[in-house]
Amino acid sequence: MPYHQNLIAGEWVGGNATENRNPSDTNDVVGLYAQGTPDDMRAAISAAKAAFPAWSRSGILERHAILRKTSDEILSRKEELGTLLAREEGKTLPEAIGETIRAAQIFDFFAGECLRLAGESLPSVRPGIGVEITREPIGPIGLITPWNFPIAIPAWKIAPALCYGNTVVLKPAELVPGCAWALADILHRAGLPKGVFNLVMGKGSVIGQVMLDSPDLAGISFTGSVGTGKRVALASIEHGRKYQLEMGGKNPFVILDDADLSIAVEASLNSCFFSTGQRCTASSRLIVTEGIHDRFVAALIERLKTVTVDNALKAGTHIGPVVDERQLMQDIDYIDIGRSEGANLAFGGERLNRETPGFYLQPALFTEATNQMRISREEVFGPVASLIRVKDYEEALSIANDTPFGLSSGIATTSLKHATHFRRNAEAGMVMVNLPTAGVDFHVPFGGRKGSSFGSREQGRYAAEFFTTVKTAYTLA
Ligand code: NAD
Repeated sequence: MPYHQNLIAGEWVGGNATENRNPSDTNDVVGLYAQGTPDDMRAAISAAKAAFPAWSRSGILERHAILRKTSDEILSRKEELGTLLAREEGKTLPEAIGETIRAAQIFDFFAGECLRLAGESLPSVRPGIGVEITREPIGPIGLITPWNFPIAIPAWKIAPALCYGNTVVLKPAELVPGCAWALADILHRAGLPKGVFNLVMGKGSVIGQVMLDSPDLAGISFTGSVGTGKRVALASIEHGRKYQLEMGGKNPFVILDDADLSIAVEASLNSCFFSTGQRCTASSRLIVTEGIHDRFVAALIERLKTVTVDNALKAGTHIGPVVDERQLMQDIDYIDIGRSEGANLAFGGERLNRETPGFYLQPALFTEATNQMRISREEVFGPVASLIRVKDYEEALSIANDTPFGLSSGIATTSLKHATHFRRNAEAGMVMVNLPTAGVDFHVPFGGRKGSSFGSREQGRYAAEFFTTVKTAYTLA
């Protein structure tokens, strides 16, 4: 059984190993992965701190070459890495290969950004003085990532961090060390100097907490749950460091009477249930106006009947398993809560048995839900959606915005007036018109508002906001 170690100061460092198991087949052990200790985390932070001065002044061509090489290797190994991703996380193989390609595209994008580090030059209001505005790296940065995008989320934090001259300690989620380790191995072999990138795998409550308590990190970029995000925020305020949080969602998808029915059904199916509903941008509230309600529900249920839930690696599987037993139990608990709250379980919701032992759940659709029910307010993070019937567009918009979250918001309509109004008035960081709430590009900003996010946006050129600090220099001519 291959044993994967942590990468600290350019060396592979061992420790107690834990098994990484496949949620599609719990007999399948993906690999053994070292559990970092608090001392490992402290050593990794020291290494990132020591490596920062030289890396922050490194040539842009060196950074460009390393990020390009990383992108090329990920792309050339997309089938193998996609298979690893599908095995450890449970999304289907095509979804996993797609995520892997996206990681390669992100490294490629930031390889290009290394060569476009522009500043500004202005005359001063005082004659004879020049003003130059530049961006500089912020220092050693801690990256904490969740389990649901095991290669893309680490990539969209690591690539800009290194591009702009920061050093990194990555703490991936316990459930998915495999993709993080593969990335660390690729970056290491691509020629990064010692300590510029460090990987410490292990428990969030142990080594993640050491990261939060460290006075030596200049920033923490976090994606995960609201509870952990709050801890990151409090600890970062305590240490006076920069922080960025991407957290939960309860994303609405509105379907108006004038919607194209097949677009509405396909977008809803994708938003609510693909990737087992385990996307922060997944929709879990379908808000449907009266005139199309019955036709839409009937068509969505017919479509759900054609969906195959099975082993993520099997050809023909549309939806893989839930990521682990704990998340499966959470999903089932919420299905019980929905029933007890009086919503109508119109489809699915039962645990399924397949050829291989895994955490399979039939997607659950509740109709006759209200926006006050817990299933409509709390993030389930599984293939569970509640459908809320409304009178008209105005009521739909008001319910869509009536949530503590604000990541993504979608609408199906053929009305330009309503589409335009929704784009302007949806309280979300991302708005989708006639498209699923999930599924975003890698070269444009990503993030939310209200309880979903805090701090500047990730991805595209907007990533520079977090991973750099601005300097204004005045020079007497
Ligand atoms: P989580 O908060 O449990 O874990 C996220 C990371 O934080 C993991 O690496 C974990 O080990 C670490 N962690 C846990 N306790 C810690 C502590 N005390 N100190 C430091 N680190 C700690 O979240 P999860 O279950 O892995 O991910 C699911 C959540 O992520 C969902 O709420 C989902 O909406 C959210 N998510 C958000 C986005 C987004 O961009 N908004 C993207 C993906 C996932």
